[in-house]
Amino acid sequence: MLVHWHRADLRATDNVGLAKAADEDDVLPVFVFDDEVLAHAAPNRVAYMLDALGALRRWYRERDADLCLLRGDPSAVLPDLCAEHGATGVFWNRGYSGLAQERDEAVKAALSDGGVGYADFDDAIHHDPGSITTNDGDPYSVYTYFWKKWRDREKEPRYDAPDADSLVAEAGEFEDLPTPEDLGFEESDADVEPAGYEAARDRLEEFCSSPIFEYAERRDFPWEGKTSKLSAHLKWGTIGVREVYEATEDAMAEAGDDEARESVEEFQSQLAWREFYTHVLHFNPDVVTRNYKEYQEGIDWREADDELLAWKDGETGFPIVDAGMRQLREEAWMHNRVRMIVASFLTKDLMLDWRHGYDHFREHLVDHDTANDNGGWQWAASTGTDAQPYFRIFNPWSQQERYDEDADYIAEYVPELADMDADAIHEWHELSDDERTDLAPDYPAPICDHGERREQALAMFKRARGED
Ligand code: FAD
Repeated sequence: MLVHWHRADLRATDNVGLAKAADEDDVLPVFVFDDEVLAHAAPNRVAYMLDALGALRRWYRERDADLCLLRGDPSAVLPDLCAEHGATGVFWNRGYSGLAQERDEAVKAALSDGGVGYADFDDAIHHDPGSITTNDGDPYSVYTYFWKKWRDREKEPRYDAPDADSLVAEAGEFEDLPTPEDLGFEESDADVEPAGYEAARDRLEEFCSSPIFEYAERRDFPWEGKTSKLSAHLKWGTIGVREVYEATEDAMAEAGDDEARESVEEFQSQLAWREFYTHVLHFNPDVVTRNYKEYQEGIDWREADDELLAWKDGETGFPIVDAGMRQLREEAWMHNRVRMIVASFLTKDLMLDWRHGYDHFREHLVDHDTANDNGGWQWAASTGTDAQPYFRIFNPWSQQERYDEDADYIAEYVPELADMDADAIHEWHELSDDERTDLAPDYPAPICDHGERREQALAMFKRARGED
């Protein structure tokens, strides 16, 4: 018998490690609540993970098997589990962060000491780190070159779920799923979409039936919902990347014209961004806290706790920023264009260190993924690989007018402004205090002047570059 150790691969279909294990022998599927990993979690993600585990366990139980749930240090509990059941090996799918790699090395050593075999697989991405490189064999730091190779490289087909008769029933330590409290977390009060393979599959089908064909043109408009919303599923592995890619290839075959085909390709290129950042993290594990691109003199970020708090609370007086920050609190998710706007606002208007933003996102996002979150923040802060140049600073007022022209998105998340005309919302910074009090008495005036802060931010970066 073999053990398949589920981690961020909470599904049975299109799961490389699980499929390989089931090809060889009977399989006992297990998930381990590891307190060291949980120390980096937060209530929204714990709730989502438990939802996904519940769905996966149902899938196994419907086949007279079970998902064995254990708690403890995997390098202790996995060898014990193998000894108890006479399992000869443990299979799992690789993680790419520094922490995941350290943990895996410890587990491998413990299994070897116990005389148990192991095998780990690339599953969460199509092309493993080191497989897409420059001609000199170095990892890419420019996305476009990476993308071209990623796009042209053949992809593996999806893997079927294992046959029920190869699966073993063992509930482990938890006959019922633990609650967040059992794991040391508060209940999440965010309104989050359901987790699990079925939910992911529904979302994928819905997205590929129509929005994917308009993705290139409409994905930047937060109110329209034309993105896939697959990020939490990809983060937790409740759907496999091969299955997602195949669905996009089917859509490509059905696309009626060049525009629709380009749109499908644009979506595929977002999937490739995810893999690009995974490679960046794999080869640079310290980017989690360090700037990827160091400036000669270091960046002299401001410190302003009151402004940071206003940003976190969605009380900056910049409607599109506040709408995004409130969406994050309410739904544990935020639209990509708005993530870019709020990140630019924090780092270029408030001139606060991107690490504050990263920590806050990590606390709230259900799709928080070290590689993507870090990549997104360092892109916005102009410190990352292939980042936004420091002198290209988003104007939150024109971003708002362009991407939320009718202020529908703002009205949804900032009810204080819901009765106002979109034009007045876009001119909020130009109104007098009396006009503002008259129109929306409970909504704050802008906490800073974008034009002034833009100049200050440029000066901050020039000093960092030693140009001052
Ligand atoms: P879609 O547009 O439908 O894209 C499909 C998938 O491609 C996404 O689910 C995601 O897996 C991937 N993807 C899309 N855009 C990017 C991107 N720019 N970088 C990497 N992968 C991408 N994404 C996360 O998955 N987790 C994070 O923690 C995260 N933090 C971010 C922080 C900041 C400051 C920024 C600017 C972006 C961040 N992103 C993150 C990227 C992006 O915002 C989300 O992936 C996207 O909004 C998720 O919505 P979706 O699934 O509808 O995306």
